[in-house]
Amino acid sequence: MQATEATKLPTIDELDVQGKRVLVRCDLNVPLKHGVIGDDLRVRASVPTLRALLDRGARLVVCSHLGRPKGKVVDELRLAPVGDRLSELLGTEVRATSDVAGEDARAACASDAEVVLLENLRFDPREEENDPAFARELAHLADAYVNDAFGSSHRAHASVVGVTEHLPSAAGFLLADEVDKLERLLHDPKRPFVAVLGGVKVSDKLGVIEHLLDKVDAICVGGAMAFTLLVATGKEVGRSLVEEDRVDEVRDVLERADRQDVEILLPTDVVAATAPEEGADSAEVPLEEIGDRLGVDVGPDTGKRFGDVVRGAKTVIWNGPMGIFEIDAFAAGTLAVADAIADATRNGAYTVVGGGDSAAAMKKLGKEDEVSHVSTGGGASLEMLEGKELPGISALRRGRNR
Ligand code: ADP
Ligand code: MG
Repeated sequence: MQATEATKLPTIDELDVQGKRVLVRCDLNVPLKHGVIGDDLRVRASVPTLRALLDRGARLVVCSHLGRPKGKVVDELRLAPVGDRLSELLGTEVRATSDVAGEDARAACASDAEVVLLENLRFDPREEENDPAFARELAHLADAYVNDAFGSSHRAHASVVGVTEHLPSAAGFLLADEVDKLERLLHDPKRPFVAVLGGVKVSDKLGVIEHLLDKVDAICVGGAMAFTLLVATGKEVGRSLVEEDRVDEVRDVLERADRQDVEILLPTDVVAATAPEEGADSAEVPLEEIGDRLGVDVGPDTGKRFGDVVRGAKTVIWNGPMGIFEIDAFAAGTLAVADAIADATRNGAYTVVGGGDSAAAMKKLGKEDEVSHVSTGGGASLEMLEGKELPGISALRRGRNR
């Protein structure tokens, strides 16, 4: 499916921003401890869109959430330290406001400050409720709106959805790029198209499996979620994590895969441990020999089998680690998949990693530059893989047709 004019995302090129104030929803949700930023990747990633708008003569009102303050002011989660970092990166003063959309925000936006940073959106409970009055208050601060927060676009929140009812709206570079990269995966992918899925819960990913069944040639399943699939095929999995209440549903999905000729590859050997902990006794064993231990990683044979399938693919999506990769002794399966994806990329395949922990694994293994795209939005990329249209993205498309 090609994007038609009606479904294409409006871009900032289509917005008249000269001399206007533009509200920009960024994802500045950085790790913050005692006012010190850990990794400033998200702040740096926001700069190109902000820079482009400034270069076109706009003044900015930047907004974001940070952490989970649950509708109350939490001093530890104030955005001011992020404002300081942003100011260094943009080389211009950033006026951080003391409220979200109240008196101080209004005063700052009415002043000639070039860049205003609103206080943490989630200090106001109305943000997550997509409250129409709050959306209006935000919109009143500006003349146009840009959404550059892909990782928040699966949430129907006021700063993502509500504001688009009131302002000419467009997608920033980060958002447009994420949507492009993920749509390219799902629309007319080169074959073979292989998915590698892992992580903890099969219930989180059943929607993804079901949607991908119509698209892919094979799915390799590792991680804890593989054990629910193995149980559905009648295997013993010892004390491994299993979602008993999902076994029937999983059996239906496996039958559907069979009918649709999609190969589902499951682990045949595992790293069996006495506990899911650092230093626990563990051994690589065939699945049949797991006994009363639990599976904490796929075994070397499985890693190799998954790797071979990935190396033969022209399109790959990877979501969810193969084992408890945070513990080095249980990271080999995840590393095998990461290596295979890097090889496939080098051979010209289009490869995408989506999911917060998979992206972290890729980074930990130093391979984030060896894939075509690492998505920044955990939940948002999963919902796109489920075939859902994200509320923030539909809102921008609706705005174009208004
Ligand atoms: P993503 O964020 O990439 O979508 P998930 O959040 O679904 O991935 O899962 C990531 C987590 O899954 C990791 O913290 C990892 O330790 C855990 N995990 C993977 N395999 C197992 C396993 N066999 N047993 C327990 N936890 C596992
Ligand atoms: Mg996760």
